[in-house]
Amino acid sequence: MGLLVVGSIALDTIETPFGRADRVAGGSAVYISAAASYFTAPIRLVGVVGSDFPKSEIEFLESRGIELEGLQVVEGGKTFHWSGRYHYDLNERDTLETQLNVFESFNPVLPESYRKSRYVLLGNIDPILQRRVIESMERKPDLIICDTMNFWIQGKHADLLETLKKVDILIVNDSEARQLASEPNLVRAAKKIMRLGPRIVIIKKGEHGALLFTNGTVFSAPAFPLESIYDPTGAGDAFAGGFIGHLARTEDFSDDNLKRAVIYGSVLASFCVGKFGIEGLKDLSEIEILGRYRDFIELSRFEY
Ligand code: AMP
Repeated sequence: MGLLVVGSIALDTIETPFGRADRVAGGSAVYISAAASYFTAPIRLVGVVGSDFPKSEIEFLESRGIELEGLQVVEGGKTFHWSGRYHYDLNERDTLETQLNVFESFNPVLPESYRKSRYVLLGNIDPILQRRVIESMERKPDLIICDTMNFWIQGKHADLLETLKKVDILIVNDSEARQLASEPNLVRAAKKIMRLGPRIVIIKKGEHGALLFTNGTVFSAPAFPLESIYDPTGAGDAFAGGFIGHLARTEDFSDDNLKRAVIYGSVLASFCVGKFGIEGLKDLSEIEILGRYRDFIELSRFEY
């Protein structure tokens, strides 16, 4: 049993046209684990922070039942810091600053109890480290899901291709899919990526939703049209957390259930963007999640 999550843990400074948050908790591993914690347990987190990472955020993760034996705390070190500014069109953002700090020498070490996890979600980190995690598993996980970004697609292309051979599902955004496949058309890009290893590809398109490609099928999910979006940071990771969380709780990898998982991913992403940082993932109830899931069904239901 169990979901292993590896990724960045950050202190983010975020500016959007609607406000600003300074040095708030973030990073792919935090968004993924927080979102998945509404669906499944145990979640086993692997990441690194410095001694400046707020105790209250560690307590939040613990309160969500997330196991932190694999969290490395570097005494006297500084946590990875990312700073970004969103444009009026929230699909556009500029990275203002990236300070790797303790993340620069991050070596994901899996505690013994993590190595039997059935589900693995590799957040956006160096593909060499992602592969090391896969190779440290004691048994072959039921599902390995991987995220990446243009930085690795460009800078560590050969390593990323090696990692992809061992991955079941790749989750990327549209520009990353185009770059990875050297193909502007997303349908053709997904097919090309599937030949690199993953048997399933999910392409996220920000406020335009997500596409799920399995062998021979395409499913298109909308993003929820919210009246107030404050901060898109981490939406993709919240999506991945909701997606794998639903699959882990149901243990059903059929095409129909993959579609439901994409909608649960979209539900968690929609809650994430409604507040700054991880605040939108902090206090959700089962009723709220199910309510938004039902709203998604209505959103694109139409009669013949
Ligand atoms: P997303 O909005 O899904 O791209 O995820 C945003 C999160 O990714 C933020 O919390 C950042 O701290 C984190 N992040 C930004 N740049 C990097 C990077 N180079 N490596 C790992 N995580 C990053």
